[in-house]
Amino acid sequence: MTIGREPFSGFPPPNAYVVVGNDATMLIDAGWENKTDHDAKVAFLANAGGPPLTEILLTHHHPDHAGGALALRQATGAPVTAHPLDREKIESERFGGKATIDGDLNTGDTRDLGGLSLQVLFTPGHTSGCLSIYIPERGVVMTTDTVMQISTTALRPRDGNLADYVKSLEYLQTINAKTMYPGHGGPINNPGGRLKQLIEHRHQREQELRDALADGPQTVKGLRERVYAGLPEVRHPLAEAQLTTGLLKLIDEGDVREDGERYSLA
Ligand SMILES: [Zn+2]
Repeated sequence: MTIGREPFSGFPPPNAYVVVGNDATMLIDAGWENKTDHDAKVAFLANAGGPPLTEILLTHHHPDHAGGALALRQATGAPVTAHPLDREKIESERFGGKATIDGDLNTGDTRDLGGLSLQVLFTPGHTSGCLSIYIPERGVVMTTDTVMQISTTALRPRDGNLADYVKSLEYLQTINAKTMYPGHGGPINNPGGRLKQLIEHRHQREQELRDALADGPQTVKGLRERVYAGLPEVRHPLAEAQLTTGLLKLIDEGDVREDGERYSLA
């Protein structure tokens, strides 16, 4: 189900996925916290048929995916689970410190829904504890914001991590899914091709960053003006966040040095 507002203009509202088995129904992600959205989600679940909701699995802590979880738990009694690395942000930012997560999701965890199963894949990078959910019987992976057809993925410094992100894309390549269902926009019908494209895009961005730094020390703003020339002002903060995430990877790898606000090749 796709319910709620666009995270920013022109970017589709979040997807949540209802997976119905013979014995259990599970919800992957919960959308925004919003009364109108909530009522629509409860109505959708009531019409989905199958067993009552058994669990709400959160792929990551962002408000367009985890915001509606607490209200849905109250309405359905289904426990909410997430990866331990995103737990604290969900409890403090999404639940306002007034509620806790009911259980952890770790890589290798499985859920048997009767005729269908869910497998938890740890795919960090978009956030520290970002998960994908695999349904082996269908060859399907729910990839949330890690793999989308409509856009590349926002990686914000410190919570997001570029090296982890690329490793997660490579890990998803080994799953050989037939279809991927993202957190925004329609399904990905050629997962292998899309993953390859996304990995190449990151390598290309990294090369652009190295090329820009080869001309001498640069600030993030200076790098943004070169790498993202002509970008509308409203998108500057996100572009600078992406560049900072790229710089942090190169610093971790010992290839870049930070000097106050300036970055240079080491
Ligand atoms: Zn997100």
